[in-house]
Amino acid sequence: MRIHIGIDDTDSPEGMCTTYIGALLYREISRMAEPLGLPRLIRLNPNVPYKTRGNGAVAMTFEASEDALQEIKDLVLKKVGELSDLSHENTNPGVAFLRGDVPGELREFSLKALREHVSIGEAEEVAERIGAEVFRFKLGRGIIGALASIGYPLRRFTYELLVYRKPENWGTRRRVNMESVFRADRWSYPFTYDNVDPHEGTVLITPHGKDPVLAGIRGIDRGRVLRTFEMVEFEEEVAFHQLYVTNQNTDDHLTPKKIRELKPYDSAVVRGRVVAPYWERGRHVFFELEDGTGRIRVAAFEPTKKFRNHVRKLLPGDEIIAAGGVKEHLGVLTLNLEKFYPVRLVPEVRYEKPKCPKCGGTMKSKGDYLKCKRCGYKMPKKLIPVEVPRKLERKIYEVPPDARKHLSRPLVLPGGEDALLSLLDVEEGKDPTPS
Ligand code: ATP
Repeated sequence: MRIHIGIDDTDSPEGMCTTYIGALLYREISRMAEPLGLPRLIRLNPNVPYKTRGNGAVAMTFEASEDALQEIKDLVLKKVGELSDLSHENTNPGVAFLRGDVPGELREFSLKALREHVSIGEAEEVAERIGAEVFRFKLGRGIIGALASIGYPLRRFTYELLVYRKPENWGTRRRVNMESVFRADRWSYPFTYDNVDPHEGTVLITPHGKDPVLAGIRGIDRGRVLRTFEMVEFEEEVAFHQLYVTNQNTDDHLTPKKIRELKPYDSAVVRGRVVAPYWERGRHVFFELEDGTGRIRVAAFEPTKKFRNHVRKLLPGDEIIAAGGVKEHLGVLTLNLEKFYPVRLVPEVRYEKPKCPKCGGTMKSKGDYLKCKRCGYKMPKKLIPVEVPRKLERKIYEVPPDARKHLSRPLVLPGGEDALLSLLDVEEGKDPTPS
């Protein structure tokens, strides 16, 4: 009998990680039943407010005997009950079990949980219709992710190898030899990626919270991911590690849309024209984008750091393709920019003072006339338009790795440009051609 297990919402900013519970369970259940593939780390809608970090849920599938089934379920519920951070108000674990094949309705529910907002009630209704068993701890919001992770069609995927810490080290500084990470990265990049930030000179594989994760190594090549793990020198004892297959870095969340269609929780790719000069509030950079159907505020928030400099180079009239999450920011619907591609840039014109027609000297502005600094010649102020080269290239600009959404595909990976460039043939305001 095939059994699918889904788990979500076990952690809080104070500790724990659903992948840790998932990895422990995968190891234990693998002694009682035959694992069918690796455990799956499924990232769902990155724009929902309840997430702790990356809205991740965990699923795994086994071929189990009828006798083992109850024992497996008891074990899952016991571990989730014991290890979840139930003291935290926002931790509302959910567990789902499904026997047999995954029905189409669950696949659709998963894609809805990736792209829209779903209620706990909807999850319960789907579970009942498809005959899945769901278990709620506290509010039990986790049943949404638990079910969605079981049904997620992993057509595109990457890997993440998660390395876990001994409980006595949780909450302390993570001890990993930095030079070994740079060395491993030089060998494996881009087959593994996000190991380091070469511009900042920092290591990215180690998270910062109180959770049990010591490091995460992401990649598209399973062998290189494992080898990179072997090359990294950990300076504290590793409890255990687990390779996950995941929808991270697939751009699965991005859907081509027209601006009129955008609503909160969407992750969309739109094509439009910059309406007016950008403005800044706090350290955030904003501009407005319109297509034939509507207008939306676009934001590059402070954590996107140097990415904002590229946004500041956009001019009114520029046509771009923009990808990001839609959220209300200060009461205004806002596209939170992840990547953009300049399709057509307007010429940038600077107005310069002419040289003195008499002596070739430099002219100075004096109200509405110009006066030569050298010979004193005066003439009406008539400035000369000069076209200056635009500082944006025809390439995709993306936020730095630590500001990137887990689902967003880095440009360095094959297909990293596809989600945006698929809109290249689309004329502004017209329907995107289905891919
Ligand atoms: P981590 O990444 O560290 O595991 P997290 O960011 O995944 O943490 P969770 O604690 O899992 O955060 O919280 C996310 C919650 O949102 C879960 O309860 C999940 O069921 C729920 N959820 C997931 N997708 C949706 C959705 N599309 N609509 C509404 N709720 C959702």
